[in-house]
Parts: sequence; C-alpha cells; structure tokens
Amino acid sequence: MRKANPLGVIDVLELHRETLNQIHDHAKREFPYECCGIILSGANQEFVRVCRNIQNQRHAEDPETYTRDARKAYLMDPNDQMSVYKESETENRPIKAFYHSHPDHDAYFSDKDIEDATAWGEPTYPNAAYIVISVYNRVIKATRAYAWCDAETEFVEAPIIVKHRLE
Ligand SMILES: [Zn+2]
Repeated sequence: MRKANPLGVIDVLELHRETLNQIHDHAKREFPYECCGIILSGANQEFVRVCRNIQNQRHAEDPETYTRDARKAYLMDPNDQMSVYKESETENRPIKAFYHSHPDHDAYFSDKDIEDATAWGEPTYPNAAYIVISVYNRVIKATRAYAWCDAETEFVEAPIIVKHRLE
C-alpha cells in the first residue's frame, strides 16, 4: 500500500483526542473568524497554544496590504508566536503542528497556506505538520493535516490518527 507521504518526515500525524477537542473548541469559539495556534509536544504530552489572530486589526489599519479580514485569513500575533517558540526552546517541547481554521470552507491547504509555510520554496518547519479545520456554523466538518514531502517537493496530506493515550 502506498503511504501518503513516502519520503517526508511525517507519514501520519498522531494526535491525542484531547488535543483535537481543544483545537476544535478553538475553531468553534472564533467562528466566523479563523483561529490559529501551535501544538507543542513533550514527553507523552501535547500542549495546545492558542494564538490571537490579528488579521482584523491589520485589515482595519491597512486594507490595501491586508485585503482580507479574519473570516478568510489569519495572522498570528507575533508576541503570542514568540512566546510559544520560546517555550518550545526552553522547555524542550518541539513544535508538532501549526493549526488554523477555515470558516465556511473546506479543510484544503490553500496557496496562501503553502506560502505561509514555505520560504523560497523550502518548508520553514519541515518537521511540523499543518492542520486545517473546516468549520461551518460552529460545527466541525473536517480536520486534515499536511506535511512537507521531499520526494514530491510539496505539501501532501498526512492522515490523522487519533490516540486516546500517547505513548
Ligand atoms: Zn488556510
């Protein structure tokens, strides 16, 4: 059987049920706006770190540069992002995944999502997965994960395996 991601770092994404519940709750809470955050991993643990989406502020200040509002885009608050990166380093909790939601849209990895996750065609965090949550009217419709694949030199879907206990 062909694996989804034969030469990428991440074949499948194992996530704890509680982690999935937390990011789903976040997506519902922020509806109709996109939510965003980062999942860190520790010894048999996962840590969901909610980040503020400042897209609406940027859109209000500078609509020519930030043409979309937070219903169709997200911009992680740089302070929130920095504190998660700091925690990742100081507590030795690697970044497992970035996540964001698509309100009233499907859980595809958009051109903008690819742009955000790469620099000059290379993945910024090749060891991290990117989770997209589709939420319609505060109801979760789908959750998909994507990871960089060296063989295909692009992001491919990595199936999510829900674990009730992390080992
Ligand atoms: Zn997206």
